[in-house]
Amino acid sequence: GLRLKDERTLSAQLLKAAHIAWGWHEEDKDVLTNVNLITENILAMCLKEAITNVVKHSNATTCEVYIQSKNDELVMIVRDNGTFKAQENYLEKGNGLAGMKERLEFVNGSLAVDTTEGTELSIQVPYDIK
Ligand code: ATP
Ligand code: MG
Repeated sequence: GLRLKDERTLSAQLLKAAHIAWGWHEEDKDVLTNVNLITENILAMCLKEAITNVVKHSNATTCEVYIQSKNDELVMIVRDNGTFKAQENYLEKGNGLAGMKERLEFVNGSLAVDTTEGTELSIQVPYDIK
């Protein structure tokens, strides 16, 4: 499986090549310590898809990633300042966001998409997937 640290490095390279400034914000230095490997793999997968979408679709100039803990969940927020471009049923078909939502629900996580200003994905996943 893919480690989040590696995916973070790849994301930085991809965004840099696309001239999109980015910020990475961990709530505190311990937020990712002791995270179950499956949880981390899922977050890494979600990060890859989210950043690929930012580069492919958004026309953004900035992208911010936040990693926070909330009760027994890890929350990863990926936000860009571009323009969301999808049709109505984008969460019902296709591989990208629909697949992400499906995988998250499979492990009792969730995906929320807010497109009022740019695109913001809120990815919530339990700390300990069993
Ligand atoms: P795939 O991920 O299967 O390669 P895709 O990226 O087109 O294809 P999704 O990731 O499901 O599919 O995204 C659905 C649509 O939502 C995209 O085609 C695009 O129009 C829109 N979209 C997704 N993310 C963003 C974003 N960050 N900015 C603007 N539009 C977006
Ligand atoms: Mg996609």
